[in-house]
Amino acid sequence: MNDKDIVQDEKIVGSDTAKRKIFTAKQKLLHRSPKFSWIFKSVKIIDGGASTSGGRGCTDGRDNIWLNAGMDEEELVDIMEHEAKHIERKDCDKDVEDFELWNIATDAVINNEMENEGKYIRNGVRIAGAASMGAEKLYKNLLTQKKGLKEEPRYEQAI
Ligand SMILES: [Zn+2]
Repeated sequence: MNDKDIVQDEKIVGSDTAKRKIFTAKQKLLHRSPKFSWIFKSVKIIDGGASTSGGRGCTDGRDNIWLNAGMDEEELVDIMEHEAKHIERKDCDKDVEDFELWNIATDAVINNEMENEGKYIRNGVRIAGAASMGAEKLYKNLLTQKKGLKEEPRYEQAI
């Protein structure tokens, strides 16, 4: 893909600079993890908007990934993988009582998986053993804990 094609790529939304950076990060991610190529064939990546959710990346679980292209490239690759994992696992389709807690549970599982694979998400949700526990069980534990405590459990910032 030449520079003109990258800038005109409708699957990436942002300034020309942001598009180039996201394109490069996407290529690096697909080189590292080719299994996500089916996701990035259809998903739109949008620069900006992620900060409204208090993090640096988010997805609707189907059609769009929002992120901040201002972060360094290595982090951008990891955030894109994190969001792709949400889509792969269909995390956003889950009908749960407390979606915020479900999101924390799935973030913890994904980040723990990535950590186990030697990747590192800065400032993401960290719960030890989350990957081996699985999102369902972790979510149930968090919900029980929340109801028992009648106050918000403490977490690190979600991404
Ligand atoms: Zn997430």
